[in-house]
Amino acid sequence: MAKRDYYDVLGVAKGASADEIKKAYRKLAIKYHPDKNPGDKEAEEKFKEAAEAYEVLSNAEKKQRYDQFGHAGTSGAGGYGGGHMNMEDIFSQFGDIFGGGSPFESFFGGGHGGGGGGRRVARGSNLRIKVKLTLEEIAKGAEKKIKVNKQVACTTCDGTGAKDRSSVQTCKTCGGSGAVRKVTNTILGQMQTTSTCPTCNGTGTQITAKCNLCHGDGVVRGEETISINIPAGVSEGMQLSMGGKGNAAPNGGIPGDLIILIEEVPHETLKREGNNVVYDLHISFTEAALGASVEVPTIDGKAKIKIEPGTQGGKILRLKGKGIPEVNSYHKGDQLIYVNIWTPKALAKEERDLLEKLQNSPNFKPQPGKHEKSFFERMREYFE
Ligand SMILES: [Zn+2]
Ligand SMILES: [Zn+2]
Repeated sequence: MAKRDYYDVLGVAKGASADEIKKAYRKLAIKYHPDKNPGDKEAEEKFKEAAEAYEVLSNAEKKQRYDQFGHAGTSGAGGYGGGHMNMEDIFSQFGDIFGGGSPFESFFGGGHGGGGGGRRVARGSNLRIKVKLTLEEIAKGAEKKIKVNKQVACTTCDGTGAKDRSSVQTCKTCGGSGAVRKVTNTILGQMQTTSTCPTCNGTGTQITAKCNLCHGDGVVRGEETISINIPAGVSEGMQLSMGGKGNAAPNGGIPGDLIILIEEVPHETLKREGNNVVYDLHISFTEAALGASVEVPTIDGKAKIKIEPGTQGGKILRLKGKGIPEVNSYHKGDQLIYVNIWTPKALAKEERDLLEKLQNSPNFKPQPGKHEKSFFERMREYFE
């Protein structure tokens, strides 16, 4: 996608002053702030786009290069433009544009620390759940419908916490602004400070009669069945996040996120090693000597594999592409089959007689150098 002109992004003219640029960015940053638009990818892109434009146009040197060469002037060594800014960079810019107290601290509350004045929007807390997945589900990806116990908006009062419409009133202390000003006299003259209104806790409203169901909280304990799409290839301990699916917030505030922690259910016979799936196969020594066709489990059903006559213990057979896919990639691991040869532990008399007859056969003598690589040899190769 071609980059938009930075002046167009901010909606200012080419000759705009530093002050106009700052004002324009401030407006966009508030409009598209992620706390105000949870889960909205488009708003997030706009937010980042504006931050990038501001980053360049607010810096005299970068702005001059941009005016002269366009986007080419700002990418590459010393320039910015190349990639997107991350959220941390963007938030760190705010100190400059909004002065000491960023408006987000007061506008959006909780999210970026308290302090300052202005109306607060409540924020629901994040919710963490564990999702257990079998190896088969991990290999294919899964859609899980999970019943989640959480705070949901109270339907009786529509989340306001009030008994009815007439019991919601503008806060008398702050007049609805959510903030109170305090003037103190100091040696340097009068100082004005703003802080969150203690009466309404920054909401700007007061409730004279509480809702019967939620007792004024605006939220109640409830259940929601959430459909979670889990991509193939996830692994134990990974966390996925669904924006806005956590606990609801009162007064139509911003819901928290749902954090999904992945847990792997161990498979009965297959073991996962990264993206490979490992299976320990045990065959008899006659099968190893004569060759055989055996069935092995895979993550999608059984597979027949051929054991060549004269197969040595320790051989590794590979079923290509029968492993686990990498998350968000076309690459897939393999299934590795370790061949173990079973030596009989107890013998009947006839069996013993037969084996004793074969004992001195020249073909039964181990041939050094013709065996499979031992475990130690493989380790040595691996570390060299
Ligand atoms: Zn209610
Ligand atoms: Zn108030």
